Amino acid sequence: MTVFNKVALIGIGLIGSSIARVVRERSIANVIAISTRSQQTLDEARALDLGDEYDTDPANIVKDADLVILCTPVGVVGKIAEAISDQLKPGCIISDVGSVKVSIINQMQPFIPDGVNFIPAHPVAGTEKSGPAHGFSTLFDNRWCILTPVESASDSAVDQLREFWQVCGSNIEIMDAEHHDRVLAITSHLPQLIAYNIVGTADDLEAVTNSEVIKYSAGGFRDSTRLAASDPTMWRDVCLHNKEAILEMLARFSEDLSAMQRAVRWADGDTLFDMFTRTRNIRREIIDAGQEIDLPNFGRDDKPK
Ligand code: NAP
Repeated sequence: MTVFNKVALIGIGLIGSSIARVVRERSIANVIAISTRSQQTLDEARALDLGDEYDTDPANIVKDADLVILCTPVGVVGKIAEAISDQLKPGCIISDVGSVKVSIINQMQPFIPDGVNFIPAHPVAGTEKSGPAHGFSTLFDNRWCILTPVESASDSAVDQLREFWQVCGSNIEIMDAEHHDRVLAITSHLPQLIAYNIVGTADDLEAVTNSEVIKYSAGGFRDSTRLAASDPTMWRDVCLHNKEAILEMLARFSEDLSAMQRAVRWADGDTLFDMFTRTRNIRREIIDAGQEIDLPNFGRDDKPK
């Protein structure tokens, strides 16, 4: 179902290439134009046949685009918005996929020309992989995409972007950017930092050898390593650009961790049992909401091959 004539994607890693694939597969646009900063990634995107036009200069692909989506790390969107600003078609929509939203608005807004609809977006979907080879067309199916339109964006443009993401497979939520950043700080950014920390601590432990960490990883550690394998540039930028909300969630987490530490120290089994019962119910709610499959061990086939 065609929603736009031309879609321009700036950045063609995991998320950009997944958009390119679903747009092509479901005929959501007639033309897909792709830009990325390195010739190597551009050549990779071309070899994968992800688009119709390719250029390392983003200003060259946005001219007649009806929808422009920035799919780069969060820290560079202001620079890119400045570089393409003069070339944006009047009435077009400019959006992004960044994991934070207030900073995206602060960085990009000064370069959005009058008459261009700026509608930041965050598809809450992903994997620990990076680069165009790892995208896939069903990444957004049944996942949420949060839109945080700025006031000047027209209602019809918001409806059109909503339709775009719906055809990509997503459910849509419209949210205030500050609220987005607080919600994602607890559901995504904090778990990521905890995973980095668990894996870092295990790596530092001298009493436990590295081979033991790998050998006995099925005891929970391995699920943290999946998160901790994510792209360092992306996560560095998320931390730098959602500082306040992340610090708030880290402070709350540290308090709760201290309470847990106290319960373990004083052998307070009732407190521990209550804590673990409460958290089990949350997983049930996530399964009921269709955001996880109800299979033991995440449906992983652990049988030795
Ligand atoms: P990725 O696979 O690492 O791809 C990043 C893309 O951005 C590549 O095309 C890369 O170009 C380009 N890029 C990197 N640094 C750049 C710079 N300094 N200037 C200009 N372009 C640069 O990343 P991704 O996982 O698709 O993430 C992209 C965005 O999606 C991020 O903002 C992230 O917050 C958001 N997001 C990610 C996930 C996830 O799970 N991965 C989920 C939701 C949202 P070259 O390869 O040519 O250098």
